[in-house]
Amino acid sequence: MDKKTLIAKIKELATGGDTSGNSIEQVFARCYNAVEKTLGITPFDEQLSAALSLCDGMMVQMQTGEGKTLSAVFAACSEAANGGAVHILTFNDYLAKRDYEWMKPVYDEMGVSVGYVTEKSDTAERKDAYKRQVVYLTAKEAGFDYLRDFVCFDPEKMVFPEQLNLAIVDEADSILIDEARIPLVIAGDLAAEDSSSTAQVYAKLSDFILDEHFEIDEESRNVYLTDEGADLAEDVFGCDIYSEEGAPLLAKVCACLKARAVLKEDKDYIVKDEHITLIDEFTGRAAIGRVFPGELQPAVEAKHGLKITSRGRIMGNIALQYFARLYPKIAGMTGTAELAREEFDALYGLPTDIIPTRLPCARTDHPLEMYFDREEKHAAIISAIEEAAEAQRPVLVGTESIEESEELAAILRTKGIECSVLNAKNDTEEAAIISRAGEKGAVTISTNMAGRGVDIKLGGEDCREKEFVTDAGGLLVLATSMRESSRITRQLRGRAGRQGDIGESRFFASLDDGIMTKYELHKLAGRHYPTEKVSGAIDDKSLLKEAERIQRISEGDAFDERSNLMKYTMIGEKHREQTFRRRKALLDGSYNAEMWQTHAPELYEEAAAKFDKDALQKKQNLILASLLNEFWCDYLDYTAYLREGIHLTQVAGRNPAEEYNIACEEYYDSAADSIPERMAEKLEALLDCSSLDEYKVAVPTKTYTYLLDDMAEEFKTKPLLLNVFDEEEPQPKPRKTEEPAEKPEKKKGFFASLFGKK
Ligand code: ADP
Ligand code: MG
Repeated sequence: MDKKTLIAKIKELATGGDTSGNSIEQVFARCYNAVEKTLGITPFDEQLSAALSLCDGMMVQMQTGEGKTLSAVFAACSEAANGGAVHILTFNDYLAKRDYEWMKPVYDEMGVSVGYVTEKSDTAERKDAYKRQVVYLTAKEAGFDYLRDFVCFDPEKMVFPEQLNLAIVDEADSILIDEARIPLVIAGDLAAEDSSSTAQVYAKLSDFILDEHFEIDEESRNVYLTDEGADLAEDVFGCDIYSEEGAPLLAKVCACLKARAVLKEDKDYIVKDEHITLIDEFTGRAAIGRVFPGELQPAVEAKHGLKITSRGRIMGNIALQYFARLYPKIAGMTGTAELAREEFDALYGLPTDIIPTRLPCARTDHPLEMYFDREEKHAAIISAIEEAAEAQRPVLVGTESIEESEELAAILRTKGIECSVLNAKNDTEEAAIISRAGEKGAVTISTNMAGRGVDIKLGGEDCREKEFVTDAGGLLVLATSMRESSRITRQLRGRAGRQGDIGESRFFASLDDGIMTKYELHKLAGRHYPTEKVSGAIDDKSLLKEAERIQRISEGDAFDERSNLMKYTMIGEKHREQTFRRRKALLDGSYNAEMWQTHAPELYEEAAAKFDKDALQKKQNLILASLLNEFWCDYLDYTAYLREGIHLTQVAGRNPAEEYNIACEEYYDSAADSIPERMAEKLEALLDCSSLDEYKVAVPTKTYTYLLDDMAEEFKTKPLLLNVFDEEEPQPKPRKTEEPAEKPEKKKGFFASLFGKK
């Protein structure tokens, strides 16, 4: 049945047909009636059409304000009616709660249970929410729950569902593309083992001079030793810091230099009550309880002469894009899918479906306006705002950064123009401001994405002054610079002209925008590039064409980077998934370890005679689970070292991604050798105890979760692993790929050999 016929059928069923079954048209018809009854609105055909595509697992493009929230309800009910659980992944916590509250009456009428989770939800609330058929929450919260279960030792306290099913991702390009690489991290607060040595290392580095002995990579904020620096380090510490044994020292050295030269007090962290408190880069607020990863925390403590308290260890992480992939079924919706169609298809296997707007779009989108420099550009933007303010026409300005927002706001204030500034600090506050951005005379300045998902109604939330605002030309949107992707510009433009409203958008750029200098517009534009200052907009068609081409180059680069990264990260995803699954099985008792029975039979006999057998088995499972956590920490450290160094293999003419994958497999496999041994050691220690309870399993005293704004961040403290190969004299180590006969067998069997069965 084609979609049109199906929609007609649904509406026909809704007006008196048999809607008792669970076929898609019957559930939709029931839902249609439930919406009319509870919300007092009639779903549009476009919404049904979008919902049908969601059911087909597609990426649905539907413009802002067309009613995607409701479309998702139809798809969710259809899945739920057929026994499948649904997570609706929202853009932020505010929207999770809003959409849940807004749509709950429909679900109630449908007899579908629904819940929501936000950052504020406690363990009991989360556990309860995940039992519902439909859950509204952010990918971030869901991902953190997934990670938290991995460091939890009490199955009763685990909250995340064992089996995931369908995720409907709202504002999908944000999670699946723009933020796809952001890792969610869980770290444990492990007691520092060597409190004095970091302070000593820090003190010994006083002769190291920036740019002579070490360099800072501006982009990753990472610190590297120069050759001179490496020589000096060898003198100072009297050992080869590039040997395998020297690696921990090198890590400390780099961390100390970074703490000294890169991290700034009151910007990256504050010192209060003899403690280091981090500042969250996203919100600018103090992040209580969070510590810097790895050696960096003790290094910063050493910098301020504090007592060295702890070493933050990353215990688990997952990038948002992989988290989304944990769901066997995904569907998505966004106002801007078309521009990322290829990527949705290539990386997620999601075909894109474009739903036309219900009413024709009455927004005027002006082409790119180019200015000579930032000053000229800001002057033009300010004058556009002044003009709108004069006419009391609402303006929404989309800036590149919080600083730019503040800068513009300061200028406006000197001119006596009141404005609201949004800066991604508080979802709820932001939603309130953005919902008023269409009011008569409103001037709203916001960074890119702030307030996404919240409707901007002309004439205010109650549309009281809609007529006035419409006469003034509707909402005016100003984008202040060219972004890395045209999707972001499109998102901004889409803020105006909702549901057939009148509106206008202008898009400013200047020759000194970051993206223009990065991609060398002056080279691309050649003689069209102005050599002397021009005032006002530059009206050179060729220059504008090249500038727009830059955006496409940048989009292509970002896409390549994301697909390239996948070549490196897929393997870790596989290993993590296996490790998580096995660990959970050990803890909930669905799998019993037989490591002692197999690898230390005599000791085991002794223990079995001394302790209760069931309790002993439980203890064995618990100990193995904790060793898996420990192993996973080491694995993350190791792969991080590896990733920093692996690009060097390119020099030797090898494929770095392939090398990386082989090295990860080897390391993962090595657990099969080391874990039985360590288990036997633990059993010996256990035998020394008079009771099972006396033996304490090492678990982190506290854990905390955070987001990193860049994959590179987590590796900032990691030194290069230089024993991947010798740069001057490549000595290819025997590679498994050269022995294809042996490789496949060995690769499969890690957990099989570790657990005695697959
Ligand atoms: P989107 O997520 O696509 O930007 P929303 O789901 O936030 O859009 O809905 C935008 C607005 O449209 C909301 O104010 C909502 O109440 C309204 N709306 C949605 N569907 C309908 C409908 N069928 N009839 C009337 N109003 C609707
Ligand atoms: Mg929405």
